Amino acid sequence: MRIVPIDVGYLGLAEAANAFLVRGPVGDALVECGTATTWSTLAAGLAAHGVAPAGVGDLLLTHIHLDHAGAAGHLAEAGARVRVHPFGVAHLVDPARLVASSRRVHGTAYDRFYGDLRAVASERILAVEDGARIEAAGLVFEAMHTPGHARHHVVWLLDHAGERHAFMGDLAGILVPGSEFVAVPTPPPEFDPDAWRASLARVIDARPSHLWLTHGGLVGGSARVAEAFLRRASDRLSTEVSWLRELVATGVDEPTCIRAYGRRERAAARAAGVDDARMADFVDDAFLRMNLGGARRAFTPRP
Ligand SMILES: [Zn+2]
Repeated sequence: MRIVPIDVGYLGLAEAANAFLVRGPVGDALVECGTATTWSTLAAGLAAHGVAPAGVGDLLLTHIHLDHAGAAGHLAEAGARVRVHPFGVAHLVDPARLVASSRRVHGTAYDRFYGDLRAVASERILAVEDGARIEAAGLVFEAMHTPGHARHHVVWLLDHAGERHAFMGDLAGILVPGSEFVAVPTPPPEFDPDAWRASLARVIDARPSHLWLTHGGLVGGSARVAEAFLRRASDRLSTEVSWLRELVATGVDEPTCIRAYGRRERAAARAAGVDDARMADFVDDAFLRMNLGGARRAFTPRP
């Protein structure tokens, strides 16, 4: 078994998002697939390892946000079975609402970075319940439902040769490559801080040795290192959430919020060795606006 990260070139950047090719004893599976606009980059990445799209038997998705699942329709057309949280099924079969929601979040950047989705034929999708064990590429993957970043989020666990691999999706945040800075994506409409912390605790209890971050690549190599990273991610989530909660409660206007939030993130990133120019690639105003939208929604009491 071998896991090969493929950089899909998300946002036109190097190392901003991966798909993971899992080479098993009986064929190949893929975890994540990038956006529809990065499909050709993914296909080229697969080809570099001698894999045609039709050679991907199973596509395992951590969630249906478009940087993770945007090319699912392309792979399903090539013949892949698509494994996704039950809440994600309808959105992949008919992506109209997913596209509309993503357009609301990403605005004019949508067409540049996300593009036209292909629907996934319903007979190609399999919903995975919490704890479901599925066979792909001759390996057994276990689905762990991990809401918080989104309610349709799944962490995939894979045991092999004494190692426990966890495909983390966005649950441990966005690691700026080559640094220790983790950005916490809190998008609307489903960001739920309490559920997120509980999900991270569940993953810590599962004692993975290798964490595969869609945004950031491999972290760990031992259960001790992986646990330390997950605990840091959980602490970072907590401090970020309480700071955002206070910011939202001040009631100040959006531009002021964005400026304060940007200053805070840049300072934290600098302390972790990420300069402002590099940071601007990963954490721009659009990202901050998205997070604020999620925070406002999560912290506003609803009737
Ligand atoms: Zn996401």
